[in-house]
Parts: sequence; C-alpha cells; structure tokens
Amino acid sequence: MKKETICIQSGWKPKNGEPRILPIYQSTTYKYETSEQMGRLFDLEESGYFYTRLQNPTNDYVAQKICELEGGVAAMLTSSGQAANYYAVFNIAEAGDHVIMSSTVYGGTFNLLTCTMKKMGIECTVVDPDDTLENLEKAFRDNTKCVFAETIANPALVVLDIEKFANLAHSHNVPLIVDNTFATPINCNPFEWGADIVTHSTTKYMDGHAMTVGGAIVDSGNFDWAKYPDKFPGLCYPDESYHGVTYTEKFGKGAYITKATVQLMRDLGSIQAPQNAFLLNVGLETLPLRMERHCANAQAVAEFLEAHEKVAWVNYPGLKSNKYHELAMKYMPKGTCGVISFGLKGGREAAGRLMDKLQLAAIVTHVADARTCVLHPASHTHRQMNDEQLIEAGVAPDLIRFSVGIENVEDIIADLEQALAQI
Ligand SMILES: *Cc1c(COP(=O)(O)O)cnc(C)c1O
Repeated sequence: MKKETICIQSGWKPKNGEPRILPIYQSTTYKYETSEQMGRLFDLEESGYFYTRLQNPTNDYVAQKICELEGGVAAMLTSSGQAANYYAVFNIAEAGDHVIMSSTVYGGTFNLLTCTMKKMGIECTVVDPDDTLENLEKAFRDNTKCVFAETIANPALVVLDIEKFANLAHSHNVPLIVDNTFATPINCNPFEWGADIVTHSTTKYMDGHAMTVGGAIVDSGNFDWAKYPDKFPGLCYPDESYHGVTYTEKFGKGAYITKATVQLMRDLGSIQAPQNAFLLNVGLETLPLRMERHCANAQAVAEFLEAHEKVAWVNYPGLKSNKYHELAMKYMPKGTCGVISFGLKGGREAAGRLMDKLQLAAIVTHVADARTCVLHPASHTHRQMNDEQLIEAGVAPDLIRFSVGIENVEDIIADLEQALAQI
C-alpha cells in the first residue's frame, strides 16, 4: 500500500461486525481463564496483554500504522518524544557506555543525552554533523553504543546526510538512531538510507493538531545485534528479570522493541494513554494531506521573507540558496517540513518586537501543527544554553522559529507583512 492508504487503512482492521473506528481500550488490565496462562505471559512464553503500563491494544494498532509508514519491523508508542529518545538510547546503552550525538538536535534531546543520561553514567560526545569523516571518526570509542541525529534538526533545520552517518556508525559496529519528527515518514524514510532505529515526537506533525504529547520508536530490523554480543549484552545475553530469556534468540528481528517494551516500559512506565493514541491515530489519517500543504505554504513564506528588505537571513532547506538544499532534494524530494527560521536586520531585539505584532501566528512553545506559530528559541526552548552552545546547536541568538500552518498562505504572509511594517 502507498503511504496515503496506510494512513487510512492500516493498524486497526475491523473484522465482521466490529467497530469501524479504532476502539479506545480504556482498561488497565486484561482477564485470563487460567493461572497457568497468566504465568506464561510473565515468562514471555506467550504474547498477550496483561497490564497497560507495558502494552495496550489501542496503542499497538497505532504503533503498527507508524511502523508500516516507516517500513520497519516493530514499533512502540511512548508517552512523549523525550521518552522515545530516552528509551531508544537506554535500551542499548548503560552506565559505563558512550554515545555520539549530532550537535544540532532538539534542545530537550541535547539536555537528555548530555546532562540527565550523564548522571546515569552514559557519556555523550557531541559532534558537528557537517564535520569531515576523518574528524567524526575520532568521536568513536570502544564503548560507543550508538550514533544519534535528526533528519531535519529542530530548530536549526540542518539536513542530515543520513547515508554518510549510517555508513560511519556501521563501520564502528553500532546503529544509527534518527529522530524523524520534522520530516515525518511522509517526506523521508531514514531506513531506506541505512538508519537502524527511528524515533518520533508524535506531538508534532503526526498528531498535527497540538492535542496530545506522545512519541514512537520504530526498529528497521536491519541491525544485527547478535553479531556483536559483547557490545549489546542486554539484547544478546540472558535477561535475569525474565528467567534468562535472550531477546535476540527468542524474538529475532523483534528483539529491540520487545526488550524496550518488557523491560523499559515495565520498569519506567512511560506508556502513552490510549485516549491520546486514539487522537494520534485520527491525526495520522490526514498526515500526507497536511504535510503537502505545510511544505507548499512554508516554501511560499520562505520566498516572501527572503525578498523582504527588513529580513537579514532565511533558513529553509526548500530555498535554492540554502546550504542544505541539495541534501534536502536527495533525502526529501517531496518537501522537508513546514518550519522556517529567519533573522531580522534589527537582530535579537527586533525579533521580540516582531513576535508581539503578529496576530494570526501565535507565540506558543510548540511547532509543527496545523496552526501557524512562532517562537524565539534563545529566549524560550533553548534558554538553558549559553551563546557558545547556541551557536553549536545552530541556533543564532536572533533566530525566529516560524512554524507555518495549513491556513491559506495569503493570510499567513499578510500577517507577516503587517508585523514587519510596524518594526
Ligand atoms: C518536540 C521534539 C522532541 C520531544 O518530544 P516531546 O513529545 O515534546 O517530548 C524530540 N525531538 C524533536 C525533533 C522534537 O521536535
């Protein structure tokens, strides 16, 4: 099936007489006929639901749809994008291990990997994604467990050379994890270019209406963990908390997601509420239509801004003048995303004034939904970073993040026009 069809038809497939629409399994638990049956579930001898902290059918139907959209073999939902990225890394790295991360990732991910996971004993080396292969090679250590980056970085809009990063990671026997939130599987499938694991903040385009916070992890099934048992002991050696189950032996290509579910979800419990998964599923149905409109609108807004006399610079990979235009055409020929960043000739101070004059575009800590919105990362999402870290993250102090919605683009441009006229 093509993606537009998957978005509508996949996941919940009702049988004769069943509800047309995905039911919300609003239940903490599940009933069994015999004690023996329940016991087998706890030993992972049988698959089945027993407690919603680990798994819920509504969530699994939605995860299945996202899995098909990405072309993966297994997927799971999490309570947030942060939880997805945390689990994706923590599933294969523990105290004493090391990971490599692109400097341009989302501020929350930057904090997670460089501060919080550091307290858990996992060290992180931050690399410039545009650096030479020779320099990137230097970041690897014997205890490196993965490389982490974003397809299109939020908010720097740096386009990742996925193939280059996948080859680099694989030459060091570790997987490449790609956060594909901004591109969405409609515009890019990182697995086709060698990525091994994909994560999402479903809070953004997938939900698309700014209704629910959520995340997802998808496994391509391509990384051969069993080839490097000493590097990935959690997947390749017996798990004492399940009577010695070895995930790679028992679950094959499902090993990574099974472990993240039965171990991390069991112990850390970042499950998505089934109500939220239901709403996410509604959002997914129109994802291809919305992405097309987001990209077309953003292109028009970027071109308008680029031609405006008060605008100092515009960053949008869809612009021919953009540093990442060629990479964007390679990895995302249908379009990149609806997010633009730009700076004014009046600098950081003018950014604040422009935002206050906008009427249709709302100032919100959000991005990538149906409504046009605007944010100043240096004052908001990235305010924990010093100027040096900001520059490293590709976030200039004057950068305005403008998330173009799916309204009529003439209205969005008119709003910018009137605000620019007042500063
Ligand atoms: C928003 C975002 C996250 C964090 O997701 P939440 O759902 O807010 O927890 C992670 N990665 C990217 C690229 C994001 O845009």
